[in-house]
Formats: sequence, C-alpha cells, structure tokens
Amino acid sequence: MGQLFGTNGVRGVINEGLTPELVMNLGRAIGTILGPGRIAVARDARKGGEMFSRAVIAGLLSTGCSVVDIGLAPTPCLQFMVPRLNCVAGVMITGSHNPPEFNGIKVMGSNGIEVKRETEAEIEKAYSSGQFRVVGWDEIGEVHRDDTAIRTYIDAIKSHVDVDVIRQRRLRVVVDGANSVGSLVTPILLRELGCEVVSINCQLDGSFPGRMPEPIPANLETLSQAVRSLGADLGVAHDGDADRATFVDEHGNVLWGDHSFAIIAARVLSRAPNSVLVTPVSSGRLIEDVARQAGARIEWTEVGSVVVSHRVVEIGASLGGEENGGVFYPPHQAVRDGAMTAAQMVEIMAIEKKALSQLVSELPVYFSAKTKVRVPPEKKMGILQNLLKMTEGEERVTLDGVKVFRDDGWVLMRPSGTEPLWRCFAEAKTREEADRLCQLGVELIQKAVEGQQK
Ligand code: MG
Repeated sequence: MGQLFGTNGVRGVINEGLTPELVMNLGRAIGTILGPGRIAVARDARKGGEMFSRAVIAGLLSTGCSVVDIGLAPTPCLQFMVPRLNCVAGVMITGSHNPPEFNGIKVMGSNGIEVKRETEAEIEKAYSSGQFRVVGWDEIGEVHRDDTAIRTYIDAIKSHVDVDVIRQRRLRVVVDGANSVGSLVTPILLRELGCEVVSINCQLDGSFPGRMPEPIPANLETLSQAVRSLGADLGVAHDGDADRATFVDEHGNVLWGDHSFAIIAARVLSRAPNSVLVTPVSSGRLIEDVARQAGARIEWTEVGSVVVSHRVVEIGASLGGEENGGVFYPPHQAVRDGAMTAAQMVEIMAIEKKALSQLVSELPVYFSAKTKVRVPPEKKMGILQNLLKMTEGEERVTLDGVKVFRDDGWVLMRPSGTEPLWRCFAEAKTREEADRLCQLGVELIQKAVEGQQK
C-alpha cells in the first residue's frame, strides 16, 4: 500500500481501505515506535469506531503497552488527557469532517499533539516491514477505563474564561453537535457557563442523520433556521471530532472561519503584550491587520494544523489559528479545540456586550479569489524554483509555495499535494484587485512552466 498517513492521520472507507486488520497492525506499529508505556485511546461517534478502537487496542496491548480507554470523546479532549494521564501517546479513532463512510486514526505524542511527519514515517516503516515488538505472554498490557476525561476537560476550559461575566449575559445558544462527540461537551459546557442552550443533532449517530459532519454553510441550514426562529444570540456547529467550531450570528449568517479566528485573535493578542501569532501562509490580510493592531508578530507556517501546533509550542506563541476556523489557545492546549473556541466566543460577546454580527462588522473587509492551473506533471516540481527566481526581491513568504505581497493584497501560489496542478489564492481590498492578483499568480505559474522549456 502507498502512503498511510495523510494531512491529519490515516483515513479510509470503513471495511474497504480501512479494515480491522490494518488498524490492528497500525496499533502494533504505534506501540512498537511510541511504546513502551501507557497509551490513551478514544473515538468519535462514527460507524466502525468501536471495531477500530478494539482493533487498535489489541495491537497496542500485544507490544506490551497498557491502554487507557476514554471511549467516546472529542479529539481535543483526548489530546488534553494524554499528558495528564502520563501517557506516552494517544490514538484517536475519527474521520473528522469526512463523509459518513470514512473513519480514520490520528496519533498523538506524549504532549497530546499529533506526531510530526518523521514519527509518522517511522510508524509507517514498522507497519510495512511487519517488524513489531512482540512481548511474552506474561507482559501483555492491560486496559483501564477512564470515564472522567470529559468532566476534567470541561472544567479545564471553564478555568480559562470569565465564568461570572458570561453568566450575567445569559446568552441563548443553539449547539449543533453533528451527531457526534462535540454533543458530549459543548451543550454541557455552555449551560454551565450560564447560557440557555438548545441542542440540535446532539444524539450520537454515525450515519449522520442530521447533516454531513463538515461544518460549512451548505450543511448548516437547519442551525441557521433554528437560531433565527428561536431568537438565539449564537449558533455553534462542530465537525465530527469537535476540534473545530463554526459560528452562526443572531441573523442566521454562518461566519467565515477567518472571521471567528480574527475576533478571537483580536481579544487574545490585545491581552498579551509582544505576543506572537502562528498561522499558515494561506491565512489572509484580515489576520495580519488584527495582529498588527494588537502589536503582535505573525509567524507563518506551512499549511496544516499539525505544523501550527508544533510551531506554537516551539516558540511559545500566544495563539495559533487557521482560516478554516481552527483556533489553538496554548494556555489551554496548543491544538485546535472546538469547545474551547466556543467558550472564548461567548466570553468575548459577554465582555464586549455586542452581538456577533456587530463584532463581525467591525472587522476590515477583504475580497478573495482563487483558481487552479493545470500543469504538465513532469514540470510540476520545477515551477517552484522558477517562481522563486521570478519573485526575488519582492516582499514574499516561501515556506509552502510562494506568497507575494503587493500593496494591500497578496497572492499565494502552491502546488497541489496530489494532482498535476498549482493553486492560486489572492486577497485584496476590492474584488477587482483580488481577481487581478489571482490572474497575476496564474501568469507567473505559466511563465514558470515555460521557463523550463528553455
Ligand atoms: Mg476535525
């Protein structure tokens, strides 16, 4: 089989690409590389969760690791518990935002953050070589159940917000749990923060009867309607493993991820002098503006939540975030955390005494454009070198593709990870300017292709 790990762990269709045999052997590989020691395991509400959880646990135990089985819980809850249970690793059975037929596995190190590429490569190597640690009959590990994780996790989140101020505001919030594990946390958390909570799609069901698990506008029509008809102040929607939260304002409008990220960033950064914000190069001008206004520095990274987490820890950043709405708040933990993000949002609304639509309207407005350029497969990798030459001397970031800044806008050119194409993203103060910058990106990529023929 090809590469096992993708951007966020291993993913596959249940009982097709992702079989119990594969998952058990993956468990053996994880135990071989990250063990010996204690490993925490949890799962979201997807189909196959229990099957894969038992398979991975069997594999781990055979290498002599012991297991703490947390059962059904959000990914960030498991991540929070891994260091607190003195575990050497964590394994999450989840397909995150993918369609219902998918499930998958995320692997965390002893700090609760998903392991780096190098470690994934080691696990893959053990998996494909079949060289696993096999312990004697009397050293097989044991399983302990832990039913305290969700309570511990909720209490931790509450310790990071001003509970009294939020309680006074008595916000009415509709929570859409995506029929998965966010339902076990966010309604309880917000109720304990004094919010009047109405839950929808909060019965656990891996067929996702309420909506598809990705919290994008197309899937949140019911939540929008519920917010409007109940006269609620806020809607919160999670993805399948609740590491992300998407917000709906009091008029039923679904916020863009970069807007909610910007609202939280403005608040966090203004409270931390000389702070640093970590975000991928795909993030836009809005975040830059917010950071500049707060006197914070931006540290750019490659695209991907795992890279952001590790950089946040390495440089001791005040905050991390992605334009899809993932927020990393290191005083709590340096990973995306949907419930923590929801608590921060209600805290901001309570402290500022403002409606969510008003907080959004105070943000600067930018327009974006994106397109893709098909390129000859054999030329795909040579393009980067030519682009680097062609944009030399310009204000740019070259961590992941090439991002060029021009006046009030920017264009990012990145190769697709899987297809023979390059992508262009542009952003500017006007729609015309965004389109123009996007076109500039296309022309640069085309020139970079032609440049290789000479
Ligand atoms: Mg997720």
